[in-house]
Amino acid sequence: MLLSTGLLLLALFLQGSNEVPQTAAGSETLATTGDYNYTKYHPMHEITSWMEMVVKENPDVVSVEVYGKTYEKRNITALKIGLKSSGEKKVIWMDCGIHAREWIAPAFCQWFVKEILTNYKNDERLRTILSNVDFYVTPVLNVDGYMYSWINSSTRLWRKSRSVPPSGCDCYGTDLNRNFNANWGMIGVSRNCCEQIYCGSKALSESEASAVTSLVESLKARMLCFFTIHSHGQLILVPYGYPEIVAPNYGELMQVAQEASKAIKSVHGMEYTVGAPPAVLYPNSGSSRDWARLIGIPFSFTFELRDKGQFGFLLPEDQIQPTCEEVYAGVRSIIDYVYDRKSPAQGGSVAVATAAVWTTLLASCVSAAALL
Ligand SMILES: [Zn+2]
Repeated sequence: MLLSTGLLLLALFLQGSNEVPQTAAGSETLATTGDYNYTKYHPMHEITSWMEMVVKENPDVVSVEVYGKTYEKRNITALKIGLKSSGEKKVIWMDCGIHAREWIAPAFCQWFVKEILTNYKNDERLRTILSNVDFYVTPVLNVDGYMYSWINSSTRLWRKSRSVPPSGCDCYGTDLNRNFNANWGMIGVSRNCCEQIYCGSKALSESEASAVTSLVESLKARMLCFFTIHSHGQLILVPYGYPEIVAPNYGELMQVAQEASKAIKSVHGMEYTVGAPPAVLYPNSGSSRDWARLIGIPFSFTFELRDKGQFGFLLPEDQIQPTCEEVYAGVRSIIDYVYDRKSPAQGGSVAVATAAVWTTLLASCVSAAALL
């Protein structure tokens, strides 16, 4: 899709800047995180201010880890949350906002951080976990795309990154969740840069996917679990999106995800379906979830938050709180499980691999409207 001249000018204006113009959506001057409204969606500059305030208010528990730059040279930032410890700590990863339009995902990451920091002093179990585990939480991974989705209603449903197209093609952006080095380019992707599921010119062509890869690789020996948060559909997805291969601990992944689904249901009665993508959604390749499991991280899950399609990516703000409450319960049940288990699942990363040779011709015909 071609940019209009006005949008192009605005996009050029935003390049190289970490700030967006103040919008009618509400800019807040943040004195403390106590003033922050977790039941509204926030533009990037407010999330950035919030991150700075979280660190300032919790210097012994939270630090900032800038681990890469987006295509438009903005910082990709994780909050590292944990209590100081003399021993080697385990790691739990969570990223939100890899797909720009899924606004409930960054809202959840912020909620998750708030809950942990509010509760750990009185929750002995959580304090013990924070003494032994560092959480790396990236509230907005696809910063360029997220900012683009805030420009106006015509950009609101932007999904991809904002990298320039390859020569001979006119459309911006790559689907970052098809760009990881996991059966890259094989199924559930497009080589047409104008498609929503364009997988890029090669694996890790995108700086955002590359940044995640570098940091997670450096932490993987200590990483208990990898969460990546999306919307919508109310699903908990386990590896693999690629058909014909099965994780060696598939049974355990499913069992843990089923328990999380039960925990979610206990909060507001919502149903979240559990399964591998080919069974419950659509097959795909190059996802961060698959890649994390392939490199040996024992537990890796995609959460697709509310809803089931009524509002889709435009989930009303009055559903932010109930969504975050239920998903926090689900995520917490997994954290408790992997913390108690600690020792990684043994065995190779792929139990069954058929000799089937997939080609890009097999890329599934997924309707763009249904992409999550
Ligand atoms: Zn998504």
